[in-house]
Amino acid sequence: MMQLTVIPGDGIGQEIMTQVLRVLKHVNAPFEYEEHAAGESALITHQSLLPQTTVDSINKTKLAIKGPTTTPVGGGHKSINVTMRQKFDLYANVRPVRSLPGVQCVCSDVNLTIVRENTEDLYAGIERMVDDDTAESIKRITRKGSERIARYAYELAQKTGRSQVAIVHKANIMKMSDGLFLKVAQEVGAKYPNIATRDVIVDNACMQLVTRPQQFDVIVTENLYGDILSDLCAGLVGGLGVVPGANIGEKAAIFEAVHGSAPDIAGQNKANPTALLQSAVMMLQHVNEQTKADAIMKALIAALSDVNARTGDLGGKGTTVSFTDAIIQKLG
Ligand code: NAD
Repeated sequence: MMQLTVIPGDGIGQEIMTQVLRVLKHVNAPFEYEEHAAGESALITHQSLLPQTTVDSINKTKLAIKGPTTTPVGGGHKSINVTMRQKFDLYANVRPVRSLPGVQCVCSDVNLTIVRENTEDLYAGIERMVDDDTAESIKRITRKGSERIARYAYELAQKTGRSQVAIVHKANIMKMSDGLFLKVAQEVGAKYPNIATRDVIVDNACMQLVTRPQQFDVIVTENLYGDILSDLCAGLVGGLGVVPGANIGEKAAIFEAVHGSAPDIAGQNKANPTALLQSAVMMLQHVNEQTKADAIMKALIAALSDVNARTGDLGGKGTTVSFTDAIIQKLG
């Protein structure tokens, strides 16, 4: 058995987490669950958005599933996700993008994964005012950062039977920084002869993703391009409400839905658990429980195909609980 830190979060977090845990328990996922607080609710109970007990638990288990958390507006609160990323050096942001039945979308046969470098690039926060009218941000790319994200992408491609990795960059203009990223990623790619490597300039990648996303398998890219491409791709398959995500490093891996805490529907049994359940599927894959992951994915797709089972956001009549009942029924 593996220990797993469970962070229900705020708003709809507890409702969808309860249902996801039902599904995990139904398939006998090999976890011992340890529930901890984070977000606005933790601010009330522990006077901290990210209590030390939660951090200690993740340090111990190295594995967490997290519901959405509310970052209070004002008061200078730092986003929990940014804090966690820095605390645990979660260098890989992984976003599988897959079209699902019953989810209205631009393209119906998308199945790709974006692997975004999470710690470097323009997001490292190296900024300054040169004078009152001039600001600059430094784009820092390192061999170490590029190498570990590229290795993660190729390993993921190999593990999940993907045949191609596309390195997305702008090395034609930023010859040193993006040039280094491209060169290092290609060097890593050369060690995986069974996986085809291509490189795509980021502006062309946007156009190709909108016109013919089916041509992509795994995409590996820098922080800023990855941030933008991840949401572009989420939009292709029905928006942020259905896509899962993970932040992964050597010290910990944290799986979460990409959507927020949806305070407008919290406590009403209306929330769609699909995104968090898909995050749980990613987590099972991460711990090499592929059979259980495949079974849940198959049951989720079957439940989504049933118009009566789907939740209201997808035009169905189902509730958070009844939709999960349908998934569990499909699991048998
Ligand atoms: P949101 O994603 O919470 O909601 C946007 C819309 O989508 C709402 O109408 C909501 O009802 C709907 N929605 C979201 N998830 C849904 C689900 N699972 N099922 C059905 N409908 C769903 O975005 P927001 O309103 O901009 O943000 C609310 C709060 O969430 C804010 O405090 C924000 O900081 C936080 N947030 C947290 C995360 C995170 O923890 N990863 C991400 C984004 C926003």
